[in-house]
Order: sequence, then structure tokens, then C-alpha cells
Amino acid sequence: MTYSVKELFYTLQGEGAQTGRASVFCRFSGCNLWSGLEKDRHKTVCPFCDTDFVGVDGEGGGKFHNARQLADAIISTWPESHQPTNSHQPDNRLQQKNYTPYVVFTGGEPLLQLDSELIQLLHDAGFEVGVETNGTIEAPEGIDWLCVSPKQLDNLKQRCGNELKLLFPLQDLPPEKFESLDFQHFFLQAVDEGGETNHLQAVIQYCLAHPRWRVSLQTHKLLGLK
Ligand code: SF4
Repeated sequence: MTYSVKELFYTLQGEGAQTGRASVFCRFSGCNLWSGLEKDRHKTVCPFCDTDFVGVDGEGGGKFHNARQLADAIISTWPESHQPTNSHQPDNRLQQKNYTPYVVFTGGEPLLQLDSELIQLLHDAGFEVGVETNGTIEAPEGIDWLCVSPKQLDNLKQRCGNELKLLFPLQDLPPEKFESLDFQHFFLQAVDEGGETNHLQAVIQYCLAHPRWRVSLQTHKLLGLK
């Protein structure tokens, strides 16, 4: 299988329960909810989308012709001074230091491309694997941290995971409709429409009134990170 990657870089996770965690971000190209082209924006359920997932021309991006090639690129994006040793070795220095290298697969829609072979190679290298998906495709086995961020309810296939991250407010997607789903954490994140519109106050008020929900900020933007 050939994987198309828009960009691959080392940063801090900016959103949700893993906020602040050092991570390799692997942004796959392509999404099943939008072509990514401006001429199609009015047709998508995600007109607010601010992610460039078209092509393979970003930092560290490219075509990777098999899982081994992409796994090696991910492993080498993690800083050399913190490189994992084999996870099965009992004297794993990273485990003694109580941290584990982490890769987040995002997009676009990462589950169009992520498969169990790639996940296994990263596990073998001592990585934990996180995924941020729109939930329209069932996730393969072996993902260590699954974040689902639905954009529609009727095509939501992945109904369990570690965190549900809902943009707010979205038409026809009130948070109450998601509370029966099987997630450990429920996050609300303000829709970023740019310009003057700021929905953060609405998110704050909702979370104050509904304590099951927590505020997710895009802290990477606040910190000036990618
Ligand atoms: S699912 Fe995510 S990446 Fe795809 S168009 Fe919607 S907001 Fe953008």
C-alpha cells in the first residue's frame, strides 16, 4: 500500500485530553467529507475546516510506498535523543523514565489510510498510537488513543473510544445527542470561523451548565505551534 502524507512533524498535542504531550503528527492527505478545494467548500458539512490536507507537499510529507517506509519516517521524526528502544526489551530506558514516544495520525481523515500493519510496526518500535478521526470509518484494532470528532450523526460508525471532541455550536449536532456513546472523555471545542466570530463563551457556558463536558482549547495556536 502507498500512503499519502501531507506533513510529518514533531510538536506538542494541542487539543483534548493529551494536550501538551510531545507527539509526532502524521497528517494523511485526503478526507471523505471534503475534497479540500475551495470550489467545493459550500458543499461540505465542514465549511469551517481550516486544515490543509491536499497533496503531499508539506514539511516531511510525501508518498511512502509501504508501511515500513512510513514507520521509519515517523520513528526518525521523534528526536534522536529520545529514540525508543525495542518495546519488548525488559530494560527499556523509556519505560524506566516513564514516558513513551507518541504518534498522532490525523488528516484529513486518517482512517482512509491507517492500517494494522503500520500500527504494529510502530508498537514494535515502542510508540503509542493516537488517532483523530471524524468517526465515519470504523477504527482498526490496536489504536492506543482514539479521539472521535463527529461532523454528522447519521454517518457516525465509530461510536466508542477514549475521547469525543465535538465542535460547538454545530447545526443539528447538539452535545446531548452524543452523551450515550461509549467514551471516557467528552470535550467541546469552539468552532473557529476566523474573523470576529468567537464561540468560546458559548462553549464555556455550556460546560458550566453540563459538567460532563470539558472545554478543549486549540493550545497549539495559543502557543504559536503547528
Ligand atoms: S472531517 Fe475534519 S479534515 Fe475532513 S473536512 Fe471535516 S473538519 Fe476538515
